[in-house]
Amino acid sequence: MILFKTVKDIKIFLGKRDKGTSKMAFVPTMGALHGGHISLINNAKNDNFFTVCSIFVNPTQFNNQLDFSKYPATIENDIYLLEKSGCDVLFLPSAEEIYPNGPATSVKYDLGYLETILEGKYRPGHFQGVCQVVQRLLEIVQPKMLYLGQKDYQQCMVISKLIDIMGVDIQLNICPTQREITGLAMSSRNIRLTDTERTQALRIYETLELIKRECKPGNLLALKAIATENLSTNGFVVDYVEIADAKTLELKENWDGASPLVALIAAYLNEVRLIDNLVITN
Ligand code: AMP
Repeated sequence: MILFKTVKDIKIFLGKRDKGTSKMAFVPTMGALHGGHISLINNAKNDNFFTVCSIFVNPTQFNNQLDFSKYPATIENDIYLLEKSGCDVLFLPSAEEIYPNGPATSVKYDLGYLETILEGKYRPGHFQGVCQVVQRLLEIVQPKMLYLGQKDYQQCMVISKLIDIMGVDIQLNICPTQREITGLAMSSRNIRLTDTERTQALRIYETLELIKRECKPGNLLALKAIATENLSTNGFVVDYVEIADAKTLELKENWDGASPLVALIAAYLNEVRLIDNLVITN
């Protein structure tokens, strides 16, 4: 694996490759890598792509400074895991490389409804920051394929919209959420959980499964209330428990029993905010 720290060097290197014979996949991350990230690299490699991974903790997508300052960093282990997975290139830029003129920007992405709900509602400005950094990274790397995790369900939809806005020909490959044997979704933020909190955190997946099991055509409000209660009585501060149309993310109060749904949860365990989701097929 070759490591690049500057935009200039990675651009020169990638520019020299024969793009006709070896198409490129890109896996953007914020590091503190785990099995979820590595599954994206594995999928890209199994699909025979020359694979570029980036590690950059993007300050502009954090609406909470404490979350940013406490974001885990495990770079030596990250490099080890990427080497082992067969990743071809690691891009590890500084904030100055990504934002040479500073992070402030006047660009506003029109994300419409997507920015008014769920993560968009509870983390104001978050998706603007995501689009800012992903656009910059895509312009540097210029991949053919982008591998993303379903763990960040709404983010996948936002990035799909960004690709439309940018008018570039980049395909998305959305890969399944990787979980611990217990069901807990792998997440960089799990490092910040104590052993007790890690056990408590299993409630999120249990609650998603409860929603999936109990979801019946008709009114969904009682089910959402039970699910929320299940989390708040077990020590969580809940941002949202929602059931939405799996294609549009339109929040649902009633279900026709036919359209695919996704259940989504965001909740705090003390200082750590966790998100997860589960697609509900009929
Ligand atoms: P992050 O480093 O959290 O910004 O995530 C980088 C990429 O890894 C995003 O596309 C995430 O959706 C994906 N990812 C994070 N956690 C998981 C997981 N448990 N399973 C699959 N993909 C994941």
